[in-house]
Amino acid sequence: MDDCIFCKIIAGDIPSNKVYEDDKILCFRDIAPMAPVHLLVIPKEHIPSVDHITEQNADIISYIFTKIPHIAKTEGISESGYRVITNHGDDARQSVKHVHFHILAGKVLPDNMG
Ligand code: AMP
Ligand code: ZN
Repeated sequence: MDDCIFCKIIAGDIPSNKVYEDDKILCFRDIAPMAPVHLLVIPKEHIPSVDHITEQNADIISYIFTKIPHIAKTEGISESGYRVITNHGDDARQSVKHVHFHILAGKVLPDNMG
């Protein structure tokens, strides 16, 4: 996707602070962290949001969730806890239309989800 900032990060056209990468996914630090630890995990395949997950592309999503515990362990947040969030669409304030999972940690997070 030519106009997708996360596809440009995957391609190396925009720099990122990488935490984990393999042939299928990338994890990097959010540029505007909302918590002491704020990571984004994305598939290298361009999927616009969770609203576009199908039986055909769902494997990459489950793959991401198998890697999140490893990333959390590396970041030292497994014991203290972390929150995983994804946004779809305007009401959820999705700003980048490439599906991504926020990992937030490093403090007691706000209990207000809405
Ligand atoms: P969302 O609002 O759920 O779409 O989240 C998009 C996230 O991407 C925001 O938390 C932004 O701070 C983050 N972001 C945007 N551009 C970059 C970038 N170049 N590097 C790292 N994070 C970014
Ligand atoms: Zn993309």
